[in-house]
Amino acid sequence: MTTPSAHRAARQEVESARLLGADFAPLPVKPLEVKAPSPAGAPVSGGAKGDALEALRAEHERECPEKAFISSFTNIVFGEGDPDARLMFVGEAPGADEDRTGRPFVGRAGQLLEGMIKAMGLSREAVYIANVLKVRPPGNATPTPAEIDACGPFLLRQIEIIQPEAIVTLGKPATCFLLQTNDALGKLRGAWHEAHGVPVMPTYHPAYLLRSYTPENRAKVWSDLQLVMERLAIAPGA
Ligand code: URA
Repeated sequence: MTTPSAHRAARQEVESARLLGADFAPLPVKPLEVKAPSPAGAPVSGGAKGDALEALRAEHERECPEKAFISSFTNIVFGEGDPDARLMFVGEAPGADEDRTGRPFVGRAGQLLEGMIKAMGLSREAVYIANVLKVRPPGNATPTPAEIDACGPFLLRQIEIIQPEAIVTLGKPATCFLLQTNDALGKLRGAWHEAHGVPVMPTYHPAYLLRSYTPENRAKVWSDLQLVMERLAIAPGA
């Protein structure tokens, strides 16, 4: 009889092999299972989470800590997705396309992220996507530690409201902020960590992947995402 771990290993091998020679291929989308209703006294429901996120968005618009560092931007990119998402993706800061539209991850890196989400058997609408900084740093500069410290608390409050079952951090700034470490991403990825009571899986940023679109890097990201699928019991195409 095949054991679950042997089955997982076989699936990972097949998928990694597929990935070594192919892009993140969209697989049939299987909607995330709806969470069991919260017991009495348990944290807020999906609707209440949506309201809490809207209140936080309004508070962020009033305070916008990014303004202390960044004076010229078009739109605040607060974050979007299912307030009741089981899975969150966190990047560092909006780029030019996101600044223009007010939506996270809609440029080239965003399209790759969407392909990755679909390859996991999910849809963009079923997850929640946010950034540490909600405003585009001029020239897409990497956020400084001072900017991250000042602006990150709004991300922490988004996480607190959503209470996802897992977070995928995309790239070093988001990972190092949430895990409060300065270790290299190559050392952190591929293993579970924890931040604010939520399991965190660091992986490479899709923009980095676009710059270094090697079979090795794609296989590493895919294997990180598979660990997430395993933890959340997501079975693409199953
Ligand atoms: N890169 C990020 O980190 N976030 C975005 O929203 C877009 C690109």
